[in-house]
Amino acid sequence: MFKPTLGIIGGGQLGSMLAIAASKLEIKTVIFCDDIDAPAQKFSNDFVHGQYNDQNKIREFISKVDVVTYEFENIPYETLNEINRIKPVLPKPSINRIIQHRLAEKDFINNLNIRTTRYTSIEKKSEMDSVEDLLPGLLKTVTMGYDGKGQHPVHTLESLDSIDIDYSKGYILEKLVKLKKEISIIITRFSNQKYEIYEPIENVHEDQILRNSKIPAEISDKILNQSKLWATQIAEELKYVGTLCVEFFIDRNDNLYVNEIAPRVHNSGHLTINAYNVSQFENHVRAVCKLEQIPLQKKSNAEMLNIIGDQITHYRNKKFSENEFFFDYLKKDIKDKRKMGHLTTLIS
Ligand code: AMP
Repeated sequence: MFKPTLGIIGGGQLGSMLAIAASKLEIKTVIFCDDIDAPAQKFSNDFVHGQYNDQNKIREFISKVDVVTYEFENIPYETLNEINRIKPVLPKPSINRIIQHRLAEKDFINNLNIRTTRYTSIEKKSEMDSVEDLLPGLLKTVTMGYDGKGQHPVHTLESLDSIDIDYSKGYILEKLVKLKKEISIIITRFSNQKYEIYEPIENVHEDQILRNSKIPAEISDKILNQSKLWATQIAEELKYVGTLCVEFFIDRNDNLYVNEIAPRVHNSGHLTINAYNVSQFENHVRAVCKLEQIPLQKKSNAEMLNIIGDQITHYRNKKFSENEFFFDYLKKDIKDKRKMGHLTTLIS
């Protein structure tokens, strides 16, 4: 079987885990990243350091690979498109363009008759005057926000006067959901109606950053089936190839909403490395490199804890039991709110 060389844009923890999964499958990887200290270079066969719009670096990267994927969605669309003219980029750049824009993403989901929070576009301050029914809400930049970055809670219109917002960036105002729970579904699509889907994962966020994840999620069968169905419909409609994550809200009346789609492997799926026969990373590599699809088998229940900022020091010195799996992302600097590692515990 032909084993292509896989190019991965982005060199953080997700890139590292993709490279590790690829090497297990004897697939060579090349990381392209704008951070000279990108941890993923330690696990890849080659590394191209450069800005994502540097023409020479893009060409160098293209010349070294057969197929390209990415570990984060905020890559300039032009860059992905340019690469795609010469070597296939999977998932397709057009998918990334929809998903990296919160309004386009929510319009796409609603057009499939799948529920999201109520929302509206905000491009100038005066537009906030007529949106009282969306309060309390969250004002989010339409592009580039993650882990709570670029997000402002808005409780009343008066509270807006005390925050400094550059409306020209383009915002979306979302009605705040009274959350009971958050879950995510990870699905890897190979081709038409051919996919592997993991069971729903229950997630807890603190300060908008994922803190921990567990399977099984404590949810009704109705929510379980609906979340799987919606994730499958989204993946099919996008004609997606690779691993995709759909994040959901469940409100206090047990209504399910799609919060957002991540067109990539996802932090909440780290536990798939130890809890399944095939991880989300391996499945992504299998799908984009056109390798064999293997039926998923769950091996164990599991919990995953994200290790954030200087908590990593404690874990670096800790002894672990047989059912605990510690992952150190080997990031050069410890920073506040930065994901530094994770711990997965298998539970019976
Ligand atoms: P996001 O970056 O949009 O996924 O938001 C990160 C986290 O913020 C979510 O996982 C929720 O915990 C919280 N959040 C975001 N939007 C809403 C919303 N409309 N209602 C309630 N909680 C939200």
